[in-house]
Amino acid sequence: MTGQMIAMVCDGPDGSVREERRDVPVSGRGELLVEVLACGVCRTDLHVVDGEIPANYPVVPGHEIVGRVIALGEGVSGFAPGQRVGIPWLGKACGTCEYCREGRENLCDHPEFTGATRDGGYATHAVADARFCFPLPEGLSDTEAAPLLCAGLIGWRAYRMAGPGRRLGLYGFGAAAHILAQLAIDQGREVYAFTRADDAAGRDFALSLGCHWAGSSEELPPEELDAAILFAPVGALVPAALKAVRKGGRVVCAGIHMSDIPSFPYADLWGEREIVSVANLTREDGTSFLTPEIAGKVKSHVVPFPLADANEALRRLREGEIEGAAVLVP
Ligand SMILES: [Zn+2]
Ligand SMILES: [Zn+2]
Repeated sequence: MTGQMIAMVCDGPDGSVREERRDVPVSGRGELLVEVLACGVCRTDLHVVDGEIPANYPVVPGHEIVGRVIALGEGVSGFAPGQRVGIPWLGKACGTCEYCREGRENLCDHPEFTGATRDGGYATHAVADARFCFPLPEGLSDTEAAPLLCAGLIGWRAYRMAGPGRRLGLYGFGAAAHILAQLAIDQGREVYAFTRADDAAGRDFALSLGCHWAGSSEELPPEELDAAILFAPVGALVPAALKAVRKGGRVVCAGIHMSDIPSFPYADLWGEREIVSVANLTREDGTSFLTPEIAGKVKSHVVPFPLADANEALRRLREGEIEGAAVLVP
């Protein structure tokens, strides 16, 4: 494979990316080379360009990649040229550490992360370890499918960790919450959406998707919650959510990075309330979520941007100006 590609590269933690022309990479052993059809813009990308999580600079961000296979490296099976695939955040797990052997590859000691420790999808082409790529269900457009690959997947993992309780609170109503809310409502849950106090549009959006209630994250919900999931990277929401869940309730922190959690009275944790975090994803999260029965029920609201406008997409995500999910289209 020869030819040139365009990549949006982050050189270091200065909050931005720049356009670069480079040779299209060759798919190595076990790898797929894809033409990128769409790549979602995730809050984690902000943490990458801002230097809040480990990254190998210079790096191409982007870990919600929908691509079409154009070449298979040696030894790849189960994929064919022309096939549409999804490339998620977990780019590779070692397969040999204690966590991988326990089936907890999301906690791998030697992982590679797409768009952070290896190049991702803010580009016209990308290579990925085929073992960590997913076939995608039919019926979703490329831009609709892209946010499912992290916002959807991490939401799914957090949702399963939240347990079966009926009343579910979602703090931070962005890309992940707007996908998960649809799924939870479809499964008969009551969803309580919490947004920033000044974000009336976000509350209207949540209600338009069928949420039972929407309010400011400074408010208590009208009923006690069985569980709450925090998507906003704001540590102060942890004690706020603990106050909103009932005895035995669980608060799931789903962000990869969060500001410090302020101290709070032990009484707010008492009553067997729990705080847990969700880290990364396993391939099982992907295969169980990316099905017509689960992901096929979801309609992503996407705001598309040309690839060259990646900085503008990041800026608008940072300012809270995206309703649903931002997606780059090469
Ligand atoms: Zn491992
Ligand atoms: Zn993400």
